[in-house]
Amino acid sequence: MKHRKLVSLALGLGLALGMTACGSTQKTVDKEKADKKPAAGALVGVTMPTRSSERWIHDGDNLKKQLEQLGYKVDLQYAENDIPTQANQIDNQITKGARLLVIASIDGTALTTQLQKAADKGVPVISYDRLIRNSPNVDYYATFDNYKVGVLQATSLLAGLGLKKPDGSEGTAKGPFNIEVFAGSPDDNNSTYFYNGAMDTLKPYLDRKALVVKSGQTDFKTIATLRWEAERAQKRMEDLLTRHYGGGTKVNGVLSPYDGLSIGILSALKSNGYGTPGQPYPVVTGQDAEVASVKSIIAGEQYSTVYKDTRQLAAVTVKMADAVLKGGKPEVNNVKDYDNGVKVVPSYLLNPVVVNKGNYKKELIDTGYYTEAQLG
Ligand code: BGC
Repeated sequence: MKHRKLVSLALGLGLALGMTACGSTQKTVDKEKADKKPAAGALVGVTMPTRSSERWIHDGDNLKKQLEQLGYKVDLQYAENDIPTQANQIDNQITKGARLLVIASIDGTALTTQLQKAADKGVPVISYDRLIRNSPNVDYYATFDNYKVGVLQATSLLAGLGLKKPDGSEGTAKGPFNIEVFAGSPDDNNSTYFYNGAMDTLKPYLDRKALVVKSGQTDFKTIATLRWEAERAQKRMEDLLTRHYGGGTKVNGVLSPYDGLSIGILSALKSNGYGTPGQPYPVVTGQDAEVASVKSIIAGEQYSTVYKDTRQLAAVTVKMADAVLKGGKPEVNNVKDYDNGVKVVPSYLLNPVVVNKGNYKKELIDTGYYTEAQLG
């Protein structure tokens, strides 16, 4: 009797100690328990930023389809670029018992609380396309080589101006050419990678004045476009044209990091008399190979875009998710470049491809990404 009392006292003490002093041990235990549940039919929570851009619709559809093919249940949510909505969607998915989360964040710094909740329940998180920052609870990251996206955009701008040849060697044009530069949303971790890749590539040409930014605006914060909104880019382009161009001074190139922004930029240019035989559009870049922009490329308006095959990104992510849910280790190919402020997140990087009038058929139609009719 006495012995039994002692044992239960010791057990009680042990439990209490475990609960107070060893919170993290408890979490590890939870995580192990979660890992041991069978993966078959598990619910996966997928959150995407917005339906206002085509690419995220493709991403969501591809993820859902490919996860369902493996027998998972999928809760797919879009937040129309509203940060609290996205946070709520993630909270709900955790409550509904999601066993893994795939998140393409709106503001990469705003999900720390949700990710902590996920970690407390042993729910792993895959950061999708955009890295979630300032949280230790990001398990993996699947994306395209974002620095390379910027390099491709800038190289394509240089090629369009004749400063480089399409093979990357020095071109015959000497300049000086007037350009303006735009960056993405400042709360999107990718934006800085695109910007750095592009500016590193343009720098030698800016240094020797083969390229001139008439407005002088090259600083990331000044040229960033909150929430990637086309209207903001259009407004900024209009202001730039009014203040810094006119008379005989023309803009010859615009570095745009995303097709949606390029559409806004092109319409500002159009209102200012560009896009005629006497005054052609400047060389305008882009990203995502969205249908409207590919059509614009075919029509000789936008110069290029960067194609990122969302089918591939979904495939890589689904493979990662499946491995994690089955208690294994997913394949990664980069363990050094993506520091989220707390840790370097193991990543899988895919290869982006530049697309222009010369290769869109090969890259976009022959690969089955679009049909000819979609682009006609
Ligand atoms: C994505 C780009 C996209 C941009 C705007 C970025 O995070 O990587 O593909 O153009 O967001 O949606």
